[in-house]
Amino acid sequence: MEKECTVDTFSEEETKALARTIARHLTPGDIIALEGDLGAGKTTFAQGIAKALGIPGPVDSPTFTIIKEYEGTLPLYHMDVYRIDSPEEELGLEEYFYGDGVCLVEWASRVEPLLPDSTLWMFLTVKPDRRRIRICSKDPRWNSLMKELAAR
Ligand code: ADP
Ligand code: MG
Repeated sequence: MEKECTVDTFSEEETKALARTIARHLTPGDIIALEGDLGAGKTTFAQGIAKALGIPGPVDSPTFTIIKEYEGTLPLYHMDVYRIDSPEEELGLEEYFYGDGVCLVEWASRVEPLLPDSTLWMFLTVKPDRRRIRICSKDPRWNSLMKELAAR
């Protein structure tokens, strides 16, 4: 079974469509870690997830607030931990990571020691004509998603 896969998206809409596909696999307590430079599409992806969870929006970057909460078919916790210098600084985050909502974490590598192995990691890179998105997890919990993405 594939433990990782790579998806290329050629527009904002395609990244949101990918989010829609992934959203169908989400259950309470899931964490999606988003890594990628400024403008790579992390917030765009989060907007796609929010829409798929029935959240009317707007969903914008939580850079200054660190966490924004939304009530959808599942609770959504959208975080941007760019401003966190050390994981220990923000102990409150673990309550969200081990809670009953879905966590989307922009700049997740900054709090990597706090994230469980079940985290779905997404690495977004900017190419001249596309975003290349590598998706992986240590946990077989995501195997059915990987299989679906590989078949796209
Ligand atoms: P980040 O949160 O990673 O800083 P944003 O999602 O805020 O990035 O911004 C991504 C920008 O790139 C948006 O302006 C979006 O329209 C543009 N864009 C162009 N192509 C894509 C793509 N394939 N996927 C996502 N965003 C894209
Ligand atoms: Mg962002």
